[in-house]
Amino acid sequence: MSKVDVLGVQFDNYDLAEFTKQVTDRYDAGQGSFIVTANPEIVMYAREHPDYAKLIHARADLVSADGIGVVKGAAMLGTPLKERVTGYDLMLNLLSWANANKRRVYFIGAKQAVNDAAVARVQRDYPDLVVAGTHDGYFDLKDQSVLDAVVAAQPDIVLAALGFPKQENFIAAIQGELPNAVMMGVGGSFDVLSGTVKRAPVWMQNAHLEWFYRLVKEPSRLGRMMVLPRFLMVVRQSVKARK
Ligand code: UDP
Repeated sequence: MSKVDVLGVQFDNYDLAEFTKQVTDRYDAGQGSFIVTANPEIVMYAREHPDYAKLIHARADLVSADGIGVVKGAAMLGTPLKERVTGYDLMLNLLSWANANKRRVYFIGAKQAVNDAAVARVQRDYPDLVVAGTHDGYFDLKDQSVLDAVVAAQPDIVLAALGFPKQENFIAAIQGELPNAVMMGVGGSFDVLSGTVKRAPVWMQNAHLEWFYRLVKEPSRLGRMMVLPRFLMVVRQSVKARK
């Protein structure tokens, strides 16, 4: 198994199909998976928050490169990654797998109306998977009753659309109680699944312009997106430092 280090985060070098197979093979072997889909924003956040970096390092079983920035960074460092594996695409693959195998999925995150609409879409498109439970994302991580409810539902998959770092902290808090479950932080994926936010057209995704599409749709993201040039600058510095 090959890991690729990008500014301290260890990425698994699989394409989407391989990544999905890793998860389902692990499940079939009785092993759960804590999946982190890390974009440049998460990598930079981890650099600035050692506790978060430590959590990913110690607790995540699989880390995917969620963003072309990470793929670019890995190439600049001389350790290329096969491809971008987005949380959204991985989530769709896991939903198909759950549907084919009648698995139990817990949907936690986003605003109540978004969560409802996302779950309704899932029930329509994946009628054979079992909705183990749902909860909106606006709860306090200290609220043990929410955590207990997820554990009590005994899901095979937990999709946590809480944004980082909340989703990773949430998964870490229940990981010990659901050792066989597949758990993944999926950021804004319920917004897309529900139709609240549209994903860029495929040609834009293929041209690696999804970030631009999101910026035009949600200009308020500009501040957050400025992390990308900063990320690439730090990658460049680290390439230079090694020479
Ligand atoms: N969210 C949540 N609880 C919170 C904060 C955020 O459920 O306390 C949700 C929010 O409604 C959105 C998602 O988390 O659906 C985060 O979306 P964002 O676009 O920030 O994630 P990205 O995909 O960019 O990581």
